[in-house]
Amino acid sequence: VKEATHNDFRFFTTEMQAHSARTLQLANALRHALSRNELYLLYQPQISMDGHVIGVEALLRWQHPQLGLISPAEFIPVAEDSGQIIQIGEWVMRTAAKQLKAWMDSGLPPMMVAVNLSAAQFRQSNLVELVTSILDETQLPPKLLEIELTEAVAMDDPQAAIAVMDKLHENNIKMSIDDFGTGYSSLNYLKRFKVYKLKIDQSFIRDIPQDAEDKAIVTAIINMASSLGMHTIAEGVETADQLAFLRLQGCSEVQGYYFSKPIPPEQITQFVRNSNRS
Ligand code: C2E
Ligand code: CA
Ligand code: CA
Ligand code: CA
Repeated sequence: VKEATHNDFRFFTTEMQAHSARTLQLANALRHALSRNELYLLYQPQISMDGHVIGVEALLRWQHPQLGLISPAEFIPVAEDSGQIIQIGEWVMRTAAKQLKAWMDSGLPPMMVAVNLSAAQFRQSNLVELVTSILDETQLPPKLLEIELTEAVAMDDPQAAIAVMDKLHENNIKMSIDDFGTGYSSLNYLKRFKVYKLKIDQSFIRDIPQDAEDKAIVTAIINMASSLGMHTIAEGVETADQLAFLRLQGCSEVQGYYFSKPIPPEQITQFVRNSNRS
């Protein structure tokens, strides 16, 4: 028994060393990622219940020449811990805003672009000034930008979240709560948040329509949001059955592989044209 414990311990520390070596490697490589054009955005369509593309979510990708394609689930936390997310996040917002302006200039109907905001960006004291200056610079109407903040980050400091949301709202910029249902929302704060949309986390969508509890939770979220005057979007919609259930419950929008994976900007143009035709 003693020996086994000893071996487990050694295995564990080796794993930990490998993990921190990789983290260090990524943090170093990330410093050059922007200047070497290794970062790019994909866009995933967000669809209304009548089948129109009402917006897209910008999702960050990192293609490293040696390390290959690195998942945001792996490198975003590294960028957060090393502070690089501030610069990267600003690049994401500017690139997404420019892209939407370019789509509209090329004749696509107006839609929204959603960008993900990290905890560190959210805590920046000049966040709202930064966002408005990017909108000025890109000439994108503020009402077309949507900022996604996770429920966990919003509820970690609800007073700060209220202040940021109020300022964004004054500037006609929309804010959505991402991964809703996973972050211990206090309803007392939620009612004071100037939130445009709740994004129902994909963990609640996955087992619909089989899982009775998930169905009850999703229904409750949709009803609560609608009573509070908020839109809802279901994330991770993969099947026609999930879509049918969400439609029946009055969910306003859907996003997921059933419609499209995140795709490059050129393909969004085609996707929007096709979906408007039908
Ligand atoms: P998220 O914001 O919750 O984004 C949704 C994730 O679900 C995306 O993963 C998307 O590709 C994936 N997804 C969409 N539809 C489906 C579906 O039908 N089925 C399944 N299984 N998955 C689906 P992705 O692109 O790998 O991003 C992972 C996370 O990385 C994001 O989760 C977000 O937290 C973070 N992230 C991505 N881009 C950015 C960024 O620009 N800034 C920040 N701060 N975080 C980002
Ligand atoms: Ca998101
Ligand atoms: Ca999400
Ligand atoms: Ca369940």
